Amino acid sequence: MGPPGAGKGTQAAFIKEYYNIPHISTGDMFREAMRNETKVGIEAKKYIDKGMLVPDSVTNALVKERLSQADCKKGFLLDGFPRNIPQAEALDQIFKDLNIKLDAVINIDVDFSVLVDRVVGRRVCPKCGASYHITNLKPKKDGICDVCGSELIQRKDDTEETIKTRLDVYSNQTKPLLDYYKKQNLVKTINGVGDVNAIFEDIKNSVGGN
Ligand code: AMP
Repeated sequence: MGPPGAGKGTQAAFIKEYYNIPHISTGDMFREAMRNETKVGIEAKKYIDKGMLVPDSVTNALVKERLSQADCKKGFLLDGFPRNIPQAEALDQIFKDLNIKLDAVINIDVDFSVLVDRVVGRRVCPKCGASYHITNLKPKKDGICDVCGSELIQRKDDTEETIKTRLDVYSNQTKPLLDYYKKQNLVKTINGVGDVNAIFEDIKNSVGGN
């Protein structure tokens, strides 16, 4: 968990690699559905372009379907889901149905004052999902993904106007989830400002295992 621009996607890539588990990002799934112009993609686009949440019924069904797949049997990382209390309740039910136990909730903590710059300066790879920043986390070659060599793009919802709505959505709907999971003693809060490798070390130390 963490607000837009906290570094969830960047750390998710490290976690996926280190723990060898699938990275399940509802944002990435929606972006892929939009590229393929599926029914879900067309519906999601109406909300995503405005910085609003896609309706829970659409999102929850997508997650349940994904978590039922075989590669999730050995564990997985959820990124960007749940994003409100009803989604967390739906996830509890999905876990019950699929006999899954939630181990930890990683909360990446970043002061709101730095998030707008991080998000507006973000550039992403449309092919492999790797994330960069025009000044803080530059690719080796300008505008080109280090991982797969594709041309980097700016997400349509990474504008100064949309990020304000997304931060409001985070404060009003997503942040209350921290209390929901604190009551279950699952929250590991990590300082999300600093070197990305050092932040990942903190995550490993707080989550443990491999
Ligand atoms: P992200 O890549 O996580 O920043 O997500 C980008 C956008 O996708 C969000 O601003 C929402 O419009 C939509 N989205 C992603 N995850 C969810 C979710 N769990 N519930 C509803 N909308 C979501």
